[in-house]
Amino acid sequence: MPHIVVIGAGVIGLSAALRILGEEEPPSPPQQQETQNTVTIVARDYPEGAETVDGASQIDFTSAWGGAHNRLVPPTDAATRREHGFARRTFARVRGVRARHPEAGVTLLRGVEYLEAGALAPAYRDLTEARARDEAGPDGLGMRGFRLLPPAELPPGVAWGCEYDTWCVNPMVYCAWMLRRFALRGGRAVRRAVRDPREVLAWRLEGGPVDAVVNASGQGFGDERVFVTRGQTCLVANPCPVTITRQNSDGSWTFCVPRAFDGGTVIGGTKEPDNWDPHPSPAVREALLRRFADTYPAILGPEGRFAVIRDVVGRRPTRRGGMRLEAEVLDADGDGDDDGAPRPVVHAYGLGGRGYELSWGVADEVAALLQPYLEAKTPGARL
Ligand SMILES: Cc1cc2nc3c(=O)[nH]c(=O)nc-3n(C[C@H](O)[C@H](O)[C@H](O)COP(=O)(O)OP(=O)(O)OC[C@H]3O[C@@H](n4cnc5c(N)ncnc54)[C@H](O)[C@@H]3O)c2cc1C
Repeated sequence: MPHIVVIGAGVIGLSAALRILGEEEPPSPPQQQETQNTVTIVARDYPEGAETVDGASQIDFTSAWGGAHNRLVPPTDAATRREHGFARRTFARVRGVRARHPEAGVTLLRGVEYLEAGALAPAYRDLTEARARDEAGPDGLGMRGFRLLPPAELPPGVAWGCEYDTWCVNPMVYCAWMLRRFALRGGRAVRRAVRDPREVLAWRLEGGPVDAVVNASGQGFGDERVFVTRGQTCLVANPCPVTITRQNSDGSWTFCVPRAFDGGTVIGGTKEPDNWDPHPSPAVREALLRRFADTYPAILGPEGRFAVIRDVVGRRPTRRGGMRLEAEVLDADGDGDDDGAPRPVVHAYGLGGRGYELSWGVADEVAALLQPYLEAKTPGARL
């Protein structure tokens, strides 16, 4: 049975690991659920209660700090069209997860986009309801429940708005559910820091060699194209029935992400490339809360105030040119020479600010990239 090691237990590593173990949507009949692979997750950080994730030592465990909501990002080129396809596949899976596993931390709700005039790119301005809703046409975006908002429904200062059906997760509830499900399906999890995917290819686990590695480490290993995009947000106890994103003319963002399952609501947020400051700024917090309350005063509730739980600083693992999603072939000793059986390292990192919303699409692609190597080792093997 091929042994695959997934480096990383963030949303990408967990989705990929589950997918490799045969998690499908809709689920296959129980008799077909026998996995043909052994899968081990190796990671430094694992999902845990959001209350105890440490903002200093785990700042690079981005999945703990994400919102996380699914947003409309109208595609403008081949790369963003591919991402939109991943987002649609993810939505389909997440909808199925919500239906079958209410404990997984998923909420289905309305998503609202507001754009000020200075932020109104043509991709939004020219979007028609027909194209946005179209599920089958080559140019359709498949956004269920899409509606352009008339001017009377826009808050002051907003030039364009829309709403659509979407989803949010309470990140650590969702990731912990995936980890439990992985273990239930026979997956193994090891807490360990690795230096390089090649190191893992040199291991013997369960007494045998490692046949393939998935690098879902968030930032990769020494990839010069990767940089951090700092995000400061503020977690409040105020509930919110909708997820709202406002793009401001000055380039800043104002948003909320409800984290149901007693997770409060994230009010955000900054997007600061190459900013390594781990400390939340009180002034930024005040500005974020004020701007969101101006956009959506109902958030303040009957008491007319925010109940702040904590400030959050996270680092989106961003990559110039977009995520790395490809197979690199190494050989038996992991050095890339052709003196041993070829073994793949499938890279799946650099998801920036979209890891949750693209996760299942990425996981499907990881499986597709692994398939030929596993089939070569075990004819008939399927992922
Ligand atoms: C403020 C903020 C808001 C966001 N909001 C959203 C949102 O609304 N929607 C959305 O889709 N995305 C959002 N994101 C982005 C999203 O959180 C990330 O894209 C996603 O979490 C990346 O997941 P990942 O699994 O690739 O990386 P990570 O979550 O960082 O996981 C990496 C894993 O690899 C392990 N690892 C790394 N290096 C090593 C090593 N050397 N040895 C062993 N293990 C290692 C880590 O321990 C961890 O388990 C947001 C991010 C931030 C900061």
